[in-house]
Amino acid sequence: MHISTLKRSNRRRQWAAWFYMRVTQGQRRRLRAELEQSGRFPIAILFYHRVADTHPNPWTISRKNFSQQLDWLERHFDIVTLREAQNRIQSRFNNRPTVALTFDDGYAENCDFAMPELARRKLPATYFVATHPVASGEPFVHDAQLHSPLRTNTIAEIQALHRQGFEIGAHTQHHVDIGGLTDYDQVRDEIVGSIEQLNRWGVGPIRYFSFPYGLPENTSQYAIDLLASYGMSGFCTAYGAWNWPDSRGYHLRRIHADPGMQTLKSWLTLDPRKLSDNRPLPFEEPDIAPSLLAGSFT
Ligand SMILES: [Zn+2]
Repeated sequence: MHISTLKRSNRRRQWAAWFYMRVTQGQRRRLRAELEQSGRFPIAILFYHRVADTHPNPWTISRKNFSQQLDWLERHFDIVTLREAQNRIQSRFNNRPTVALTFDDGYAENCDFAMPELARRKLPATYFVATHPVASGEPFVHDAQLHSPLRTNTIAEIQALHRQGFEIGAHTQHHVDIGGLTDYDQVRDEIVGSIEQLNRWGVGPIRYFSFPYGLPENTSQYAIDLLASYGMSGFCTAYGAWNWPDSRGYHLRRIHADPGMQTLKSWLTLDPRKLSDNRPLPFEEPDIAPSLLAGSFT
């Protein structure tokens, strides 16, 4: 009697899970149809850090997982450059599932598999680099603190990525929390210093910047105004949200691709909770049209 009760309870749970999935799928299908029809289909910008089968950590995904993600993304999305994603955001009409791929930091192993794999598939990506670890060969502070001094890219590797057609972006010099800095000179040094360093390496023009850590508290109005006045086309955060085609498009919100295949699939198939994530920004987005800035910075 007791066992059959448990079985019934388990069946109910199974049925409830199945039912919830079905209900969500219907909601997602309706949303998709509505967004396609209205031209308000949001644009996803993903960010990765490190693709490797060694030293797994929360900012590393395996080669297999990365390939599976690309297989799935290629089947269901236009995979476009950051500039094209920005164009679709600014055009105020987008009816196509669109994704752009970015990487942060500058981990050496990305050049062993992820970037060659993207090149083989002829897929674009933007590669944001913190210049000091690359110039010095020192590990990132967050890795050193965990006693896991993972290898960083070399300058030659960044130059090779640029030659292969990948866009290089800036990510500060020392991978600092910009929102935590109170000295304006230091903010300028970290941001402008990294952009100028990358230009000296011949991997420019540098058009985009991504904020290390990337949450609202890791940004600042001063830094954003500085990026605009310096002629940057836009900046990326890690807010974990979509970009709507009716937004200004200077601030490019990105979604973490690290948590894995199933999570990513759920988020990118218009998870209603993800869609409603529209946290207010702690800053004024510059009132400029980035398309006018194209090529203005050399
Ligand atoms: Zn970073």
